[in-house]
Amino acid sequence: MYDYLIVGAGLYGAVFAHEAALAGNKVKIIEKRNHIGGNIYTEEIEGIHVHKYGAHIFHTNDSEVWTYIQQFATFNRFTNSPIANFKGEIYNLPFNMNTFNKLWNVSTPNEAMSIIETQREHLNGKIPINLEEQAISLVGTDIYKKLIKGYTEKQWGRSCQELPPFIIKRLPVRFTYDNNYFNDKFQGIPIGGYTKIIEKMLEHPNIEVYLDTDYFEDRKNFNTEANKIIYTGMIDQFFEYKYGHLEYRSLDFKTDILDIENYQGNAVINYTDKETPYTRVIEHKHFEFGQQDKTVITYEFPKEWEVGSEPYYPINDEKNANLYKKYYKLAQTEKKVHFGGRLGLYKYFDMHQIIKASLYAFKKLNN
Ligand code: FAD
Ligand code: UDP
Repeated sequence: MYDYLIVGAGLYGAVFAHEAALAGNKVKIIEKRNHIGGNIYTEEIEGIHVHKYGAHIFHTNDSEVWTYIQQFATFNRFTNSPIANFKGEIYNLPFNMNTFNKLWNVSTPNEAMSIIETQREHLNGKIPINLEEQAISLVGTDIYKKLIKGYTEKQWGRSCQELPPFIIKRLPVRFTYDNNYFNDKFQGIPIGGYTKIIEKMLEHPNIEVYLDTDYFEDRKNFNTEANKIIYTGMIDQFFEYKYGHLEYRSLDFKTDILDIENYQGNAVINYTDKETPYTRVIEHKHFEFGQQDKTVITYEFPKEWEVGSEPYYPINDEKNANLYKKYYKLAQTEKKVHFGGRLGLYKYFDMHQIIKASLYAFKKLNN
């Protein structure tokens, strides 16, 4: 008998397992993929740490989380500064004075603000009710049309008028010449890759990890194996889609090894027009200032989730929020099971939020 059965060896499950084992609990983790790490998994190809499930940049404002993660890795000084490519025109992200200068040939914050002011006049100061209104009220119509609309509608497969405003508020808007994608105090890439972090978290005699093991293949038996279950898979699947499917966005990744040193000159380039079928191209070596002779790049093609594909992004619009509430209520009645992580809570969480939530859950459950 284990104290905890953890479904999913992603970041949430691994942090929980680590804390539980340190506190003397016996932990069994089952993971349906053939590797640990969930979506932060990195794999070495040509001496380069490849982010197998999309670019992952660690960033946080929370010193506790930052101190916590340092136990498992040393972070480099990488600062995410993606580039937007709109039909061959290059712009700096996030939206800042470099972007405004390139777009409008303005050089002062006042000039940029006054153009944005004119471009959002038609909204009359109204509180934005969808992503389109939110975007225009932040940066005006030119940027919305060139850098947001196409990218967002490819990424989410929905019109910007149907999407919630909060998604675009993830991106800073700055009236300084600063291309740092995040406002957080701490940021970097773990030297040696993310997989090593998870390996370290799970390296404890109290933890057993079983790969290629799907909870739903034998849930009755798994349920009898532990006193408590930490479930980090899809919440709607847990309840056999009783109220219907929650919607997710999935991705296809296409990775190429190129016999050149430097393909695109930056770790992340976003293709913001609607015609290019991929949203971004990652050149992995630039996350670690790599000097290898070859390079590895990955194209990210968004698609709607269907049974059999990976559910990368919860779609936190109103329709899905209402459906999630019903599953959440059901989850409250499961006394033995705790739901956590991006899929268990159906929330667009970044890594630092996952760590925080997992640490909090452990403290609450383990007393
Ligand atoms: P997951 O990593 O999804 O782990 C859940 C695990 O559970 C998976 O391994 C899954 O296989 C397993 N599982 C599910 N169902 C079952 C089952 N039935 N039986 C057994 N195992 C099961 N965050 C950042 O902070 N910075 C970034 O730059 C960033 N970039 C991102 C880019 C992309 C493309 C994506 C998709 C996410 C990004 N994130 C980023 C978010 C980050 O990936 C998540 O916050 C984090 O990985 C979530 O961890 P998790 O453990 O909740 O989920
Ligand atoms: N976004 C955009 N243009 C860009 C980059 C982002 O319109 O060039 C919007 C898009 O809607 C995206 C959201 O901002 O889904 C959040 O971007 P982020 O880079 O945080 O997305 P993630 O890395 O989580 O996929």
